[in-house]
Amino acid sequence: MSKNKPPSCLDPFEADAISVAAAKQTILDKIVPIQGSVKVALRDALNQYLAKDVISPINVPPHINAAMDGYALAGEDLPTNESQSYQVSGASFAGIPTDQVYTKGSVIRIMTGAVMPSSTDTVVPQEVVDISEDGSINIDTQQRAGQNVRYPGEDIEKGATLFKKGHRVSPADLGIIASLGKGEVDILRRPRVAFFSTGDELKSIGETLNEGDIYDSNRYTLFALLKNLDVEIIDLGVIRDTKEAIEQAFIEAADLADIVITSGGVSVGEADFIKPTLKKLGDTHFWKIAMKPGRPLTFGSYHDSWFFGLPGNPVAVMVTFMQFVQPAINYLASGSITSDILIKAKCLQAIKKRPGRTEFIRAIVSQSDNGELEVKLTGKQGSGILMSMSLANCFIHLPVESNGINEGDVVEIMPFKNIL
Ligand code: AMP
Ligand code: MG
Repeated sequence: MSKNKPPSCLDPFEADAISVAAAKQTILDKIVPIQGSVKVALRDALNQYLAKDVISPINVPPHINAAMDGYALAGEDLPTNESQSYQVSGASFAGIPTDQVYTKGSVIRIMTGAVMPSSTDTVVPQEVVDISEDGSINIDTQQRAGQNVRYPGEDIEKGATLFKKGHRVSPADLGIIASLGKGEVDILRRPRVAFFSTGDELKSIGETLNEGDIYDSNRYTLFALLKNLDVEIIDLGVIRDTKEAIEQAFIEAADLADIVITSGGVSVGEADFIKPTLKKLGDTHFWKIAMKPGRPLTFGSYHDSWFFGLPGNPVAVMVTFMQFVQPAINYLASGSITSDILIKAKCLQAIKKRPGRTEFIRAIVSQSDNGELEVKLTGKQGSGILMSMSLANCFIHLPVESNGINEGDVVEIMPFKNIL
């Protein structure tokens, strides 16, 4: 590449473009995770990040209880040589323990979840006993002492650290915290993320398209991607391609948000003001990545905000968001680092590629009749073809050094929807 020629997407390799891995590392090095916290009602903690470790104040379950409906007795009183008959005395129900005293030769009727009467440690399921006409029961020799009983702390032990600070609360976690009797949870403040689109050709929904105009779709895909992350979303609309408008939007966004995302205007065209604006106001950490799609991506900081200038093309917006912005938000929100999950699949088509950049090919993975994962392309891969993202359930990840794929080769995929 000649020194005087501006970079172009047609260049196979650019010495000043950094690798995807280096870009991810730079982002982690620059971002400082949120420390501020708020106390919320348990239900509002779903999908949020814990501000403190959760330590159990109790044993769960709190008492020894039956795991099945049946009959309680001491394991040492089970029959050994031949089946034996027992009198049934009393009954223990879940939430209504019995004060019946256990005596050898009898059993106590018990329901799942009921406290085991003292001196009993074994439950014989009702399905395996024979009930005589006089109401006594017959137990065979197949039963084991200690069976079908749940012990205190078996699920959760008192004093155990269940979740660390920064852990994201899942539906199961919400249930676990409820099982501890905690009605409130300390969570980290949610990240505030502002975004705007840039481009004189962009019209918002409801406006009329003139010659050369298109509707702004990036604000909708960004909104949707952010919605999935449960952050505070600030949509600042479409900003015209002037230095002044972009600078003003930039300052306003940084004032409102921890992370500012823009789309478009990030290349080296004459109406591309994102890079110079960041350069003027803040610090640029990188501006070009050896990847496709998404090569021109600017990352920087301004005051207390981090800035992602994504490319304008709709597919590039989604790919760069998923690769860089999503892990950045996750790290900001939780202090923990997400790692990519790559799965091997057989590629049903040849793919042309030259070494020098990482490529994210939109593709569909499915399971063949013999259980193998097979992947095929969604079709045309232009970075303006948003249908390729809509059809895809994964990316085929072609690393920098790859020089193409032959039909039948095994490739690495990154699933991003339910894969089967
Ligand atoms: P740019 O990076 O501004 O040169 O934009 C690259 C391409 O993406 C152009 O074809 C733009 O029209 C298109 N584009 C930019 N922003 C948007 C948007 N918000 N919605 C849909 N297409 C866009
Ligand atoms: Mg533009």
